[in-house]
Amino acid sequence: MKYKKKVEAMRRTLPESEELECPECKLSFYDEFNMVCLTTLKMCLLCANRKLDKQIIKEKYHVE
Ligand SMILES: [Zn+2]
Repeated sequence: MKYKKKVEAMRRTLPESEELECPECKLSFYDEFNMVCLTTLKMCLLCANRKLDKQIIKEKYHVE
């Protein structure tokens, strides 16, 4: 699973904190999908789905 590697790489660059706060909805997340999303898109999955169209999300994730 590609996300796994991304999260591991990302965690090495992050401070000790295991949580990330979404600047849009101000909720904190600690699951890896939301963390990848927050790092990549600067918002959680929910906000990304609401605010961005799928093409942009795919481009940011560099997936097909
Ligand atoms: Zn959010």
